[in-house]
Amino acid sequence: MKERIDFGKCPLCDSLEFEKFKVGDCSGHFSYDETLSKNIIWNICRNCRHVFTEGYYTDEAIKIVFRKTQGLQKLGFEFEKNRYVSARMIEKVIPYASGGHWLDVGFGNGSLLFTAQEYGFKPYGLDLRQDNVAQLSSWGVRADCSDISKLKMDEEFSVISMMDVLEHMPYPRVGLSEAYRLLKAGGVLFLSMPNRESWAWEFLDHKNMNPYWGEMEHYQNFGRARLYELLNEFGFSPVRYGVSERYRVCMEVVAVKK
Ligand SMILES: [Zn+2]
Repeated sequence: MKERIDFGKCPLCDSLEFEKFKVGDCSGHFSYDETLSKNIIWNICRNCRHVFTEGYYTDEAIKIVFRKTQGLQKLGFEFEKNRYVSARMIEKVIPYASGGHWLDVGFGNGSLLFTAQEYGFKPYGLDLRQDNVAQLSSWGVRADCSDISKLKMDEEFSVISMMDVLEHMPYPRVGLSEAYRLLKAGGVLFLSMPNRESWAWEFLDHKNMNPYWGEMEHYQNFGRARLYELLNEFGFSPVRYGVSERYRVCMEVVAVKK
């Protein structure tokens, strides 16, 4: 089985100048299966310093990676604890958007959308897990099992959240340009992902305990600086930096469509 399709260039800047940076071991990962390689090769771009995997999984391999759903991705997982976390996230957005349609890409356990609904937003969820979509719909929330690029609702959203999503995408630029298309002028793009430019990340590397080098579902390791450059390139002004409470060593960034 062909496991990965090589990028062959930097997925953020298209530079052909990159070199091997690190090899991660994913044999302890929740989704690991012995039919897949236990090594993940990470490259660094010599032009923009972005760090990315050698390639992304083929359709055949991704079926193996996605065959199990982690508990925390299931609708309603720890819903009361997560409601508090989601509320603190939404309060970071409120100064820039206080109502309207909220699109959450990769809604997972649904907490952010249900909480946004409490705050007066009109929720809409996308997720690649059919089970989650069926369940969210059964609670009366609009949901589709679809890719963001298939949505035909230009300039309708006040907020688009992509929490822990861009690092899963082979080509994050596609996600950003689609978010730009779907957002109203002045609308909010709300993002989170691990920040490799944090002392916490360096400390985990130093202790050889950084889980992200063995994270099978990630293709990118962003740092704050490169993310901010990319946001500007795609027509967004980052307006607020924060630390995410959802996953380890993550940043949470509010950006506004210029
Ligand atoms: Zn690059």
